[in-house]
Amino acid sequence: MMLDYNLLLLALGVSATCLAVTLMGSWLARRAETVLLTGTFGLVLVVVGIFVYGFYVERPGPVLGTGNFVLFHAGFAIIWGAGYQFRTNRLPISGIVIRALIAMAVTIPPMIAGLNGLAFMADNLAIAFLLFATARQYWLGRAEAPAPISGITALYTLTAISFVLCASVLIWDGKLVLDAAPNNWAENLSLAMCIAGMTGIGALSLALHQWRLAARHRIDAITDPLTGLLNRRALFDRYGTRTMGVSTAVIVFDIDHFKSVNDRYGHAAGDHVLRVFASELSANCRNGDTAARLGGEEFTLVLKEIMPGRAELVAERIRKAFEDRDIYIDDEVLKCTVSVGVAPGRSKPLDFDAMLGEADKALYAAKRAGRNRVELASHLHSVPSGAARSAS
Ligand code: GH3
Ligand code: MG
Ligand code: MG
Repeated sequence: MMLDYNLLLLALGVSATCLAVTLMGSWLARRAETVLLTGTFGLVLVVVGIFVYGFYVERPGPVLGTGNFVLFHAGFAIIWGAGYQFRTNRLPISGIVIRALIAMAVTIPPMIAGLNGLAFMADNLAIAFLLFATARQYWLGRAEAPAPISGITALYTLTAISFVLCASVLIWDGKLVLDAAPNNWAENLSLAMCIAGMTGIGALSLALHQWRLAARHRIDAITDPLTGLLNRRALFDRYGTRTMGVSTAVIVFDIDHFKSVNDRYGHAAGDHVLRVFASELSANCRNGDTAARLGGEEFTLVLKEIMPGRAELVAERIRKAFEDRDIYIDDEVLKCTVSVGVAPGRSKPLDFDAMLGEADKALYAAKRAGRNRVELASHLHSVPSGAARSAS
């Protein structure tokens, strides 16, 4: 035998321990990421299981064998759970328990009955099954970061296949009772695969974790936390330097008498009104349009590929929808309105800042003319579709 089995086992135990410590450290640095804790916990069980298996190799017996099965099957079921949690953000406790119990149910009885050969056939198949199931979780979530996740999927799959090979060799030999722990080419291959897989999966998981944090920060930086719309900075990043031609319109909205909503119903009610308005705005967005919160109770909508005369209709539709909307504050129904300024696209292109300024002027005109109405920049005519009405 070229490879010393116990040495390989020790190497696996050490590399798994290192990975568990690293995962634990990442979790300590960011406790909200409980998936790291789940992974650590599963790995710790597997590590202890590896050492118990080491003792079993020295003195095979049903107690150590059973201990190893319990630790391995619980550990790999939890690692599957970490994959599920990574993908869905939900820890599948009952799924973990069921998988672990099924694996134990097919391995522990034969081990106790003295049929250790049969027990290890079932054990290798059970672990392979859990690893394939883990690979599947990552595969289903691969869209988030295709390269590292495909790598993780491949490594779990290869490791699972190595366990299938171990089971196949035992089944081929057909011995239901073994006088020592399984020791064949497949076991050595599987151990080597486990070491490589563990290291690779560990490195890729940490990379993936960093990738996810960075992506989350990127999104946070451009999102208004209250409404989920783009924030002012993101809007200017997107349009700040662009000139806008005839097919682009800019609309600004300012909720009417919003201060009095805050004063009468409280700040939380005011926040709720802002979210309601944001949802009306989003509902009226097509692909390619940009809705953003400029700040306070001011919002903007940038319309692209818009036909002349359409922007004011969109603005009017949103104004009307918001006016008609019942906003529930505790037991009361609140009605709110919004004033709107529209800067339609022009044949002589303007830059975004100037368009926004035009729309703001129109908005100011709408406020002065009594609120709850749409005004058009350039001509500063009110929209004819019955928008003009006096605010109460
Ligand atoms: P007008 O019809 O002229 O627009 O009157 P207004 O009361 O809506 O305008 P004003 O600009 O005087 O008031 C805006 C208020 O919006 C003042 C500020 O306290 C409130 N506000 C700004 N940001 C938020 C927020 O995030 N949440 C809540 N609840 N209120 C906010
Ligand atoms: Mg305002
Ligand atoms: Mg206002």
